[in-house]
Amino acid sequence: MATSVGFIGVGNMGNPMALNVLKAGFPMTVFDLNPKAMANLVDAGARRAASAREVVDGVEIVLTSLPASPDVEAMYLDAGGLVERANPETILIDLSSVLPSTPRKIEPRAIARGVHFLEAPVSGGVSGAQAGTLAIMVGGDAQALKRAEPVLRPIGPNIFHVGPVGAGNTVKAINNMMASVNSLAMMEGLVLGVKAGLDPMTIYEVVKASSGGSKALERIPRALVPRKFEPGFKVALMNKDLETFNTIAKELHVPVSFSNVAQRYQQAAMAAGLADHDTSAAVLIIERLAASQVSKGDPK
Ligand code: NAD
Repeated sequence: MATSVGFIGVGNMGNPMALNVLKAGFPMTVFDLNPKAMANLVDAGARRAASAREVVDGVEIVLTSLPASPDVEAMYLDAGGLVERANPETILIDLSSVLPSTPRKIEPRAIARGVHFLEAPVSGGVSGAQAGTLAIMVGGDAQALKRAEPVLRPIGPNIFHVGPVGAGNTVKAINNMMASVNSLAMMEGLVLGVKAGLDPMTIYEVVKASSGGSKALERIPRALVPRKFEPGFKVALMNKDLETFNTIAKELHVPVSFSNVAQRYQQAAMAAGLADHDTSAAVLIIERLAASQVSKGDPK
């Protein structure tokens, strides 16, 4: 019989990840604080639980995709939370991006109860989650990962076992710092180019064929020219990931530069009321500083 799976937190990322696991034939129970977020999964055959605790009662593997460390620590470690409630041998897997200290707190508590725990932050955005092509950065016990792999594969084929718990979220923070810095550098260049009289799509085509190109360029046709800023990946969540990178840097006494600048832009965007917009909305701050707009029209 197929492994029974629970999925808690089915927002922008969790929802398409859960749908792909469900479509791969794993019987699924779901829970989210927002009932609307579960509707399409229930239509596709998932069972709706009344609480997170009800999810963990009846399944062999539980996946969680929650916003940040405080949400994950409360879900796993509070009295009656996942760790306390799970049957021995259950595998709990957190797909959220959190401080490395969070999985390091959870793992020993899980082991003490005979429960397995893995951190498994993901990368590839909502489009990658929909396509089932995410990269998965696993930290924790290799045997538990081996058992969980069939359930993770529908989420993404690139499953990296990077070390003990904490290692997964460290590499995830490094990735997001690089992605954010690439994006902001692209936006600054783009806004300057438009003010200098260039067409934004010309900049896109030329840089794409040149040495300044990166995945960040795809934001130009997708978000910046049409001025479409619905998430995707929220500014507040990127701010959290840059804070994680900066926290790791402080702990290791590594003087870092670019992540601080990148975080300043997320905070300016949050102060401007854009916390729940896509990270591409940072261009609105850069446009204001440059007194120039990439394209005409109001942000959507
Ligand atoms: P989101 O805000 O869209 O989704 C989070 C979901 O968790 C929401 O539906 C919310 O209702 C639910 N939730 C919160 N607390 C809960 C609780 N106690 N019980 C049950 N449900 C609860 O966020 P998202 O974009 O899906 O991101 C989830 C995680 O994945 C974050 O850590 C984020 O940094 C990471 N991530 C996001 C992206 C992206 O492109 N959006 C990419 C990679 C990683």
